[in-house]
Amino acid sequence: MNTTAWASFRRDLHQNPELGFKEHRTAAKIAASLRRIGCSVEEGIAQTGVVGTLVNGPGPMIGLRADMDALPMTEATGKPWTSQIDGVFHGCGHDGHVTCLLATAEHLAKTRAFCGTVVFIFQPAEEGHGGGRVMVEEGLFDRHPCDRIYGFHNMPLLPLGTAAVKSGPMMASFDELRVTFHGEAGHAAAPHLARDPVLAAADCAVALSRSPARRVDPHAPSVLSVTQIHGGTTHNVIPAEAWLGGTVRALSAEARQILEEEVTRISQAIAAQHGVECSVVYDRRFPVLVNEPEATAALRAAAGQALGPNALMDDFRPLLAAEDFAFMLAACPGAYILLGQGDDTHHAMVHNPGYDFNDQLIPLAVNVLSAAVSQGL
Ligand SMILES: [Zn+2]
Ligand SMILES: [Zn+2]
Repeated sequence: MNTTAWASFRRDLHQNPELGFKEHRTAAKIAASLRRIGCSVEEGIAQTGVVGTLVNGPGPMIGLRADMDALPMTEATGKPWTSQIDGVFHGCGHDGHVTCLLATAEHLAKTRAFCGTVVFIFQPAEEGHGGGRVMVEEGLFDRHPCDRIYGFHNMPLLPLGTAAVKSGPMMASFDELRVTFHGEAGHAAAPHLARDPVLAAADCAVALSRSPARRVDPHAPSVLSVTQIHGGTTHNVIPAEAWLGGTVRALSAEARQILEEEVTRISQAIAAQHGVECSVVYDRRFPVLVNEPEATAALRAAAGQALGPNALMDDFRPLLAAEDFAFMLAACPGAYILLGQGDDTHHAMVHNPGYDFNDQLIPLAVNVLSAAVSQGL
Protein backbone atom coordinates (compact mmCIF):
# COMPACT_ATOMS: atom_id res chain seq x y z
CA MET A 1 0.00 0.00 0.00
CA ASN A 2 1.22 3.50 -0.84
CA THR A 3 1.20 5.18 2.56
CA THR A 4 2.69 8.42 1.22
CA ALA A 5 -0.08 8.79 -1.36
CA TRP A 6 -2.77 8.13 1.25
CA ALA A 7 -1.13 10.61 3.65
CA SER A 8 -1.34 13.32 0.95
CA PHE A 9 -4.95 12.34 0.32
CA ARG A 10 -5.65 12.79 4.04
CA ARG A 11 -3.89 16.15 4.17
CA ASP A 12 -5.95 17.39 1.23
CA LEU A 13 -9.14 16.50 3.16
CA HIS A 14 -7.64 18.23 6.18
CA GLN A 15 -7.09 21.45 4.20
CA ASN A 16 -10.67 21.32 2.95
CA PRO A 17 -12.81 20.36 5.96
CA GLU A 18 -16.60 20.35 5.73
CA LEU A 19 -19.27 20.41 8.46
CA GLY A 20 -21.94 17.77 9.05
CA PHE A 21 -24.33 17.07 6.10
CA LYS A 22 -22.28 19.52 3.98
CA GLU A 23 -19.43 17.13 3.12
CA HIS A 24 -20.01 17.51 -0.66
CA ARG A 25 -16.39 17.78 -1.78
CA THR A 26 -15.38 15.00 0.62
CA ALA A 27 -18.21 12.76 -0.64
CA ALA A 28 -17.22 13.35 -4.28
CA LYS A 29 -13.61 12.42 -3.53
CA ILE A 30 -14.73 9.29 -1.67
CA ALA A 31 -17.04 8.20 -4.51
CA ALA A 32 -14.31 8.79 -7.12
CA SER A 33 -11.78 6.79 -5.08
CA LEU A 34 -14.21 3.90 -4.54
CA ARG A 35 -14.93 3.73 -8.29
CA ARG A 36 -11.20 3.77 -9.09
CA ILE A 37 -10.70 0.94 -6.60
CA GLY A 38 -13.46 -1.11 -8.27
CA CYS A 39 -16.33 -0.82 -5.80
CA SER A 40 -19.94 -0.24 -6.76
CA VAL A 41 -21.02 3.07 -5.26
CA GLU A 42 -24.20 4.49 -3.75
CA GLU A 43 -24.24 8.25 -3.11
CA GLY A 44 -26.60 10.68 -1.42
CA ILE A 45 -27.67 8.52 1.53
CA ALA A 46 -28.25 10.83 4.53
CA GLN A 47 -27.54 13.72 2.11
CA THR A 48 -23.76 13.34 1.77
CA GLY A 49 -23.17 9.74 2.86
CA VAL A 50 -21.46 7.32 0.48
CA VAL A 51 -21.51 3.51 0.47
CA GLY A 52 -19.07 1.37 -1.52
CA THR A 53 -19.51 -2.37 -2.05
CA LEU A 54 -16.87 -4.96 -2.91
CA VAL A 55 -17.89 -8.55 -3.65
CA ASN A 56 -15.67 -11.63 -3.69
CA GLY A 57 -17.96 -14.64 -4.15
CA PRO A 58 -20.37 -16.01 -1.57
CA GLY A 59 -19.87 -15.34 2.12
CA PRO A 60 -20.89 -12.96 4.89
CA MET A 61 -21.61 -9.28 4.41
CA ILE A 62 -19.38 -7.19 6.65
CA GLY A 63 -19.74 -3.41 7.02
CA LEU A 64 -16.91 -1.02 7.89
CA ARG A 65 -17.82 2.52 8.83
CA ALA A 66 -15.92 5.83 8.83
CA ASP A 67 -17.22 9.30 9.67
CA MET A 68 -16.55 12.26 7.36
CA ASP A 69 -17.31 15.59 9.03
CA ALA A 70 -15.17 18.31 10.62
CA LEU A 71 -15.79 20.55 13.64
CA PRO A 72 -16.81 24.24 13.79
CA MET A 73 -13.57 25.33 15.47
CA THR A 74 -10.31 27.03 14.56
CA GLU A 75 -7.14 25.02 14.03
CA ALA A 76 -3.88 25.87 15.79
CA THR A 77 -1.53 23.09 14.67
CA GLY A 78 0.67 25.28 12.49
CA LYS A 79 1.03 22.34 10.09
CA PRO A 80 1.62 23.04 6.37
CA TRP A 81 -1.73 21.33 5.65
CA THR A 82 -3.67 23.59 8.05
CA SER A 83 -7.36 24.07 7.28
CA GLN A 84 -8.04 26.60 4.53
CA ILE A 85 -11.61 27.10 5.70
CA ASP A 86 -12.08 29.69 8.46
CA GLY A 87 -13.55 28.22 11.64
CA VAL A 88 -13.79 24.67 10.27
CA PHE A 89 -11.24 22.07 11.32
CA HIS A 90 -10.78 18.30 11.20
CA GLY A 91 -10.19 18.32 14.96
CA CYS A 92 -11.46 14.79 15.48
CA GLY A 93 -9.47 13.03 12.76
CA HIS A 94 -12.39 12.09 10.51
CA ASP A 95 -10.14 13.08 7.58
CA GLY A 96 -7.93 10.21 8.74
CA HIS A 97 -10.88 7.83 9.19
CA VAL A 98 -12.07 8.42 5.61
CA THR A 99 -8.53 7.81 4.36
CA CYS A 100 -8.06 4.62 6.41
CA LEU A 101 -11.31 3.17 5.09
CA LEU A 102 -10.52 4.00 1.45
CA ALA A 103 -7.02 2.55 1.85
CA THR A 104 -8.63 -0.60 3.30
CA ALA A 105 -10.96 -0.82 0.30
CA GLU A 106 -7.97 -0.52 -2.02
CA HIS A 107 -6.05 -3.16 -0.07
CA LEU A 108 -8.94 -5.66 -0.04
CA ALA A 109 -9.68 -5.04 -3.74
CA LYS A 110 -6.06 -5.90 -4.54
CA THR A 111 -5.54 -8.87 -2.23
CA ARG A 112 -9.07 -10.34 -2.45
CA ALA A 113 -8.23 -11.88 0.92
CA PHE A 114 -11.87 -12.28 1.96
CA CYS A 115 -15.02 -14.19 1.04
CA GLY A 116 -18.38 -12.48 0.62
CA THR A 117 -19.17 -8.78 0.56
CA VAL A 118 -17.58 -5.79 2.22
CA VAL A 119 -19.68 -2.64 2.60
CA PHE A 120 -17.66 0.55 3.09
CA ILE A 121 -19.91 3.03 4.88
CA PHE A 122 -18.92 6.72 4.82
CA GLN A 123 -21.15 8.51 7.28
CA PRO A 124 -21.76 12.26 7.41
CA ALA A 125 -22.44 14.45 10.45
CA GLU A 126 -21.08 12.44 13.35
CA GLU A 127 -20.33 15.52 15.48
CA GLY A 128 -23.65 15.85 17.29
CA HIS A 129 -25.95 15.71 14.28
CA GLY A 130 -26.63 11.97 14.23
CA GLY A 131 -25.72 11.19 10.62
CA GLY A 132 -25.48 7.53 11.66
CA ARG A 133 -29.14 7.56 12.73
CA VAL A 134 -30.19 9.17 9.45
CA MET A 135 -28.31 6.54 7.42
CA VAL A 136 -30.09 3.75 9.31
CA GLU A 137 -33.47 5.51 8.87
CA GLU A 138 -32.82 5.89 5.15
CA GLY A 139 -32.48 2.13 4.78
CA LEU A 140 -28.72 1.53 4.93
CA PHE A 141 -29.17 -2.00 6.32
CA ASP A 142 -32.24 -2.75 4.16
CA ARG A 143 -30.18 -2.28 1.00
CA HIS A 144 -26.97 -3.63 2.58
CA PRO A 145 -28.08 -6.27 5.12
CA CYS A 146 -24.75 -6.62 6.91
CA ASP A 147 -24.18 -9.66 9.13
CA ARG A 148 -21.79 -7.56 11.15
CA ILE A 149 -20.37 -4.02 11.23
CA TYR A 150 -17.17 -2.57 12.60
CA GLY A 151 -16.40 1.04 13.47
CA PHE A 152 -13.19 2.69 14.65
CA HIS A 153 -11.80 5.95 16.00
CA ASN A 154 -8.28 7.25 16.50
CA MET A 155 -7.30 7.83 20.13
CA PRO A 156 -4.44 10.19 21.10
CA LEU A 157 -4.53 8.92 24.71
CA LEU A 158 -3.35 5.48 23.52
CA PRO A 159 0.12 4.95 22.02
CA LEU A 160 0.41 4.39 18.27
CA GLY A 161 0.27 0.66 17.60
CA THR A 162 -2.12 -0.14 20.44
CA ALA A 163 -5.90 -0.52 20.50
CA ALA A 164 -8.80 -0.78 22.93
CA VAL A 165 -11.99 -2.73 22.39
CA LYS A 166 -14.31 -4.25 24.97
CA SER A 167 -17.51 -6.21 24.94
CA GLY A 168 -20.56 -4.31 26.23
CA PRO A 169 -20.85 -0.54 26.72
CA MET A 170 -17.90 1.26 25.13
CA MET A 171 -19.16 4.83 24.77
CA ALA A 172 -21.90 6.72 26.62
CA SER A 173 -25.38 7.84 25.73
CA PHE A 174 -25.70 11.57 25.12
CA ASP A 175 -28.74 13.68 25.93
CA GLU A 176 -29.34 17.42 26.16
CA LEU A 177 -31.42 19.20 28.77
CA ARG A 178 -32.84 22.68 29.09
CA VAL A 179 -34.78 23.90 32.11
CA THR A 180 -36.51 27.29 31.96
CA PHE A 181 -37.76 29.01 35.13
CA HIS A 182 -40.61 31.48 34.71
CA GLY A 183 -40.97 33.95 37.60
CA GLU A 184 -42.05 37.55 37.95
CA ALA A 185 -39.76 40.49 37.28
CA GLY A 186 -39.11 43.14 39.88
CA HIS A 187 -36.62 45.49 41.57
CA ALA A 188 -33.49 43.77 42.87
CA ALA A 189 -33.88 45.69 46.13
CA ALA A 190 -37.35 44.25 46.69
CA PRO A 191 -37.08 40.53 45.92
CA HIS A 192 -40.12 39.82 48.09
CA LEU A 193 -42.27 41.59 45.50
CA ALA A 194 -40.84 39.52 42.63
CA ARG A 195 -40.51 35.80 42.00
CA ASP A 196 -36.86 35.18 41.25
CA PRO A 197 -36.05 32.67 38.46
CA VAL A 198 -32.27 33.34 38.67
CA LEU A 199 -31.87 31.91 42.15
CA ALA A 200 -34.06 28.95 41.16
CA ALA A 201 -31.78 28.27 38.18
CA ALA A 202 -28.69 28.51 40.40
CA ASP A 203 -30.15 26.09 42.97
CA CYS A 204 -31.21 23.76 40.20
CA ALA A 205 -27.73 23.74 38.64
CA VAL A 206 -26.25 22.60 41.97
CA ALA A 207 -28.94 19.99 42.63
CA LEU A 208 -28.81 18.52 39.12
CA SER A 209 -25.01 18.32 39.13
CA ARG A 210 -24.97 16.18 42.24
CA SER A 211 -27.91 13.95 41.32
CA PRO A 212 -25.85 11.17 39.63
CA ALA A 213 -23.86 10.68 42.83
CA ARG A 214 -26.99 10.08 44.91
CA ARG A 215 -29.51 8.52 42.52
CA VAL A 216 -27.47 6.25 40.22
CA ASP A 217 -25.65 3.03 41.17
CA PRO A 218 -21.98 4.02 41.70
CA HIS A 219 -21.02 1.01 39.56
CA ALA A 220 -22.90 2.52 36.60
CA PRO A 221 -20.83 5.47 35.34
CA SER A 222 -22.85 8.56 34.51
CA VAL A 223 -22.43 12.31 34.56
CA LEU A 224 -24.72 15.32 34.42
CA SER A 225 -22.99 18.60 33.54
CA VAL A 226 -24.77 21.93 33.62
CA THR A 227 -22.86 23.92 31.03
CA GLN A 228 -24.82 27.16 30.72
CA ILE A 229 -27.05 29.46 32.75
CA HIS A 230 -28.72 32.50 31.22
CA GLY A 231 -30.95 35.17 32.68
CA GLY A 232 -31.22 38.86 33.31
CA THR A 233 -29.95 42.02 31.65
CA THR A 234 -28.57 44.23 34.42
CA HIS A 235 -27.57 44.37 38.10
CA ASN A 236 -30.73 45.86 39.61
CA VAL A 237 -33.56 44.02 37.88
CA ILE A 238 -34.80 40.56 38.75
CA PRO A 239 -35.77 39.13 35.35
CA ALA A 240 -38.94 37.21 34.58
CA GLU A 241 -37.09 34.25 33.16
CA ALA A 242 -33.83 32.30 33.49
CA TRP A 243 -32.74 29.03 31.97
CA LEU A 244 -29.99 26.46 32.30
CA GLY A 245 -28.74 23.87 29.88
CA GLY A 246 -26.47 20.87 30.02
CA THR A 247 -25.86 17.30 29.06
CA VAL A 248 -26.37 13.83 30.53
CA ARG A 249 -23.99 10.94 29.72
CA ALA A 250 -24.42 7.36 30.91
CA LEU A 251 -23.01 3.92 30.16
CA SER A 252 -26.26 2.08 30.82
CA ALA A 253 -29.85 2.51 29.69
CA GLU A 254 -30.94 2.29 33.35
CA ALA A 255 -28.72 5.16 34.51
CA ARG A 256 -29.88 7.23 31.54
CA GLN A 257 -33.53 6.61 32.40
CA ILE A 258 -33.02 7.52 36.07
CA LEU A 259 -31.27 10.78 35.19
CA GLU A 260 -33.94 11.77 32.69
CA GLU A 261 -36.57 11.34 35.40
CA GLU A 262 -34.41 13.16 37.96
CA VAL A 263 -34.03 16.24 35.73
CA THR A 264 -37.80 16.72 35.67
CA ARG A 265 -38.37 15.80 39.33
CA ILE A 266 -35.59 18.05 40.71
CA SER A 267 -36.44 21.00 38.45
CA GLN A 268 -40.11 20.91 39.44
CA ALA A 269 -39.28 20.57 43.13
CA ILE A 270 -36.94 23.56 43.00
CA ALA A 271 -39.44 25.63 41.05
CA ALA A 272 -42.05 24.89 43.72
CA GLN A 273 -39.59 25.81 46.47
CA HIS A 274 -38.95 29.20 44.82
CA GLY A 275 -42.57 29.85 43.89
CA VAL A 276 -41.83 29.94 40.17
CA GLU A 277 -42.91 27.78 37.22
CA CYS A 278 -40.57 25.63 35.18
CA SER A 279 -40.57 23.90 31.83
CA VAL A 280 -38.19 21.03 31.10
CA VAL A 281 -36.98 19.91 27.70
CA TYR A 282 -35.04 16.65 27.76
CA ASP A 283 -33.78 15.62 24.34
CA ARG A 284 -32.59 12.02 23.95
CA ARG A 285 -29.79 12.22 21.38
CA PHE A 286 -27.47 9.18 21.07
CA PRO A 287 -27.95 5.78 22.76
CA VAL A 288 -25.20 3.93 24.64
CA LEU A 289 -22.71 2.37 22.23
CA VAL A 290 -22.74 -1.36 23.00
CA ASN A 291 -20.25 -3.82 21.50
CA GLU A 292 -21.72 -7.25 20.71
CA PRO A 293 -19.64 -10.05 22.35
CA GLU A 294 -18.90 -12.25 19.28
CA ALA A 295 -18.05 -9.28 17.07
CA THR A 296 -15.85 -7.91 19.84
CA ALA A 297 -13.97 -11.22 20.11
CA ALA A 298 -13.43 -11.20 16.34
CA LEU A 299 -12.23 -7.59 16.35
CA ARG A 300 -9.87 -8.31 19.24
CA ALA A 301 -8.41 -11.26 17.33
CA ALA A 302 -7.98 -9.07 14.24
CA ALA A 303 -6.27 -6.29 16.23
CA GLY A 304 -4.00 -8.83 17.93
CA GLN A 305 -3.05 -10.30 14.56
CA ALA A 306 -2.45 -6.91 12.94
CA LEU A 307 -0.75 -5.06 15.80
CA GLY A 308 0.80 -7.85 17.87
CA PRO A 309 -0.37 -9.82 20.92
CA ASN A 310 0.45 -7.04 23.41
CA ALA A 311 -1.32 -4.26 21.52
CA LEU A 312 -4.68 -4.53 23.27
CA MET A 313 -4.96 -2.04 26.15
CA ASP A 314 -7.39 -3.80 28.43
CA ASP A 315 -7.09 -1.29 31.25
CA PHE A 316 -8.61 1.40 29.04
CA ARG A 317 -11.96 2.41 30.52
CA PRO A 318 -15.09 3.10 28.44
CA LEU A 319 -15.50 6.79 27.61
CA LEU A 320 -18.37 9.03 28.67
CA ALA A 321 -18.08 10.74 25.31
CA ALA A 322 -20.75 9.72 22.81
CA GLU A 323 -20.49 8.36 19.27
CA ASP A 324 -23.36 8.03 16.83
CA PHE A 325 -22.06 4.69 15.53
CA ALA A 326 -24.26 3.58 18.46
CA PHE A 327 -27.29 3.90 16.12
CA MET A 328 -25.71 1.45 13.66
CA LEU A 329 -24.78 -0.98 16.46
CA ALA A 330 -28.37 -0.83 17.69
CA ALA A 331 -29.49 -1.96 14.21
CA CYS A 332 -26.78 -4.51 13.39
CA PRO A 333 -24.43 -6.58 15.58
CA GLY A 334 -20.88 -5.32 15.59
CA ALA A 335 -18.10 -3.67 17.52
CA TYR A 336 -16.20 -0.39 17.76
CA ILE A 337 -12.47 -0.12 18.37
CA LEU A 338 -10.22 2.74 19.48
CA LEU A 339 -6.90 2.78 17.62
CA GLY A 340 -3.99 4.46 19.41
CA GLN A 341 -2.31 7.33 17.57
CA GLY A 342 -0.30 8.92 20.36
CA ASP A 343 3.43 9.60 19.88
CA ASP A 344 5.87 12.47 20.56
CA THR A 345 4.18 14.77 18.07
CA HIS A 346 0.57 13.54 18.39
CA HIS A 347 -0.41 13.96 22.02
CA ALA A 348 -3.18 16.57 21.69
CA MET A 349 -6.61 15.08 22.37
CA VAL A 350 -9.36 15.17 19.74
CA HIS A 351 -11.35 18.46 19.72
CA ASN A 352 -8.19 20.32 20.84
CA PRO A 353 -7.05 23.13 18.45
CA GLY A 354 -3.59 21.51 18.35
CA TYR A 355 -4.86 18.05 17.36
CA ASP A 356 -3.86 16.38 14.08
CA PHE A 357 -4.47 12.86 12.77
CA ASN A 358 -1.32 10.71 12.81
CA ASP A 359 -0.70 9.48 9.26
CA GLN A 360 1.35 6.58 10.61
CA LEU A 361 -1.94 5.12 11.78
CA ILE A 362 -3.17 4.64 8.19
CA PRO A 363 -1.34 1.34 7.44
CA LEU A 364 -2.08 0.02 10.94
CA ALA A 365 -5.79 0.72 10.61
CA VAL A 366 -5.79 -0.92 7.17
CA ASN A 367 -4.25 -4.05 8.68
CA VAL A 368 -6.72 -4.20 11.58
CA LEU A 369 -9.80 -3.62 9.40
CA SER A 370 -8.60 -5.99 6.65
CA ALA A 371 -7.88 -8.73 9.22
CA ALA A 372 -11.37 -8.25 10.68
CA VAL A 373 -12.92 -8.70 7.22
CA SER A 374 -10.61 -11.57 6.17
CA GLN A 375 -11.45 -13.75 9.15
CA GLY A 376 -15.18 -13.63 8.30
CA LEU A 377 -17.76 -14.15 11.02
ZN1 LIG B 1 -15.38 14.35 17.64
ZN1 LIG C 1 -14.69 11.72 16.05
